[in-house]
Amino acid sequence: MGEVADGLDAPAFRFAVRTAGVMLFVSGSFAALWAVAVVGGVPGPDVHWRVVVFTVGVSAVGFGAVLLLLGRRTPKWLLFAFPQVTAGLICLPPLVSHESTPAGSILLVWPVLFAGYLLPERVAWVTLAVSLGLLVAVALRKHTSDAVATSVEVGLSLVATVYITVHLRRNNRALVATLRREARTDPLTGLANRRAFDDLLEREFGLYERHGGPMALLAIDIDHFKRLNDCSGHPAGDAALVALAAVLAAHVRHGDSVARTGGEEFAMLLTDCPAGVAQRRAHALLAVVAAESAAWPDPITISIGVAAIPDHAGAPAELVTAADTALYAAKAAGRNTVAAA
Ligand code: GH3
Ligand code: MG
Ligand code: MG
Repeated sequence: MGEVADGLDAPAFRFAVRTAGVMLFVSGSFAALWAVAVVGGVPGPDVHWRVVVFTVGVSAVGFGAVLLLLGRRTPKWLLFAFPQVTAGLICLPPLVSHESTPAGSILLVWPVLFAGYLLPERVAWVTLAVSLGLLVAVALRKHTSDAVATSVEVGLSLVATVYITVHLRRNNRALVATLRREARTDPLTGLANRRAFDDLLEREFGLYERHGGPMALLAIDIDHFKRLNDCSGHPAGDAALVALAAVLAAHVRHGDSVARTGGEEFAMLLTDCPAGVAQRRAHALLAVVAAESAAWPDPITISIGVAAIPDHAGAPAELVTAADTALYAAKAAGRNTVAAA
């Protein structure tokens, strides 16, 4: 997933740009139309006020159009500036007017809400600070008890809005991280699962294509595991799986990886490892498992199929098929053995 800016992935960035563009375009058009409605005789504040509101409306429409046109090419600083600029535009009319005109500062909830939900946390806090500063300026400019009361009410609402949205965002992010981790982990053994392993295989293959360097796959399967389950029970089978996973994990080298790819099937990916070395490592694993499991309540043996890129395959899917075929040969050869593709 392509992170474009501070925890915003590409779809979230595009959504934020589009939302900001539409918000500016619609609210700016509305403000400009409302301002010129004086021509149609709608009663309201004086012309000076309307000129200011019209200018603000047109500026907002212009900014919105820029965002909508740029779309995903919008620089992140421009998107991050959006709530600040919007807050400024919202507070411009009450700041430049001497009249006792409506302040409209409750609209500040929109840029604050936008930043709180859609932009990085620090931008939300900056937006809050800018908005509170503007509220103070409006209260000082108007200098009436009504204006001060409104600024205090709106200010407190903004603080609550940012506090709650930032809290929800943090919870959401933690939840997503947990779900993402769990979706890629086998709950019984704690190893990577098939999904994670497939991704890893693709990634390692990408590196192989760029830098060369052979890579090998060991397809590992417990021998007669069904028998163990039938004789000693499913919990004993689970214990053997957990114990084997620990042995395998203890014997991966830095840069290599191991996963539980099926019921009693495991895979070990060896990077920068030619086929011959992979076979030697497979034989060593076989010996280690036999030796260590001799002390378990239910000793096991394993069979291993070895395949390597570029010797036996040219792509990840071919590598998996080649290793599986080799594993099948190892089973046919009597189990507790290694076969190469
Ligand atoms: P082979 O030597 O040919 O591999 O024989 P096998 O008995 O190991 O293979 P088979 O595919 O016939 O049986 C695999 C067994 O693994 C069947 C299934 O009940 C068991 N199994 C799969 N997942 C689990 C698990 O999570 N826990 C336990 N206890 N058993 C499992
Ligand atoms: Mg088996
Ligand atoms: Mg099997």
